[in-house]
Amino acid sequence: MGGRRGSERLLYCESCGRAVPRSKAVEYSKRSAFSTDLRGEDNITTFTDRTVYYCISCAKHRKIFERKKEQAARRRERF
Ligand SMILES: [Zn+2]
Repeated sequence: MGGRRGSERLLYCESCGRAVPRSKAVEYSKRSAFSTDLRGEDNITTFTDRTVYYCISCAKHRKIFERKKEQAARRRERF
């Protein structure tokens, strides 16, 4: 390992909370739905893409790599 510790931004794994250097973190965009919880027509549900980061082992465990591949494939189909 190099001696430039601290020069890289640390991110926290969404799953286990471990600090991961940016270069080793797995970026994954997660879709969350927010609802206003109002009954009837005024109820608005919005979807937000939130970017989360996983460490390599959690990414493997949660099959993030496969999902990222699927997302990429879906994106390609659109063009
Ligand atoms: Zn983790």
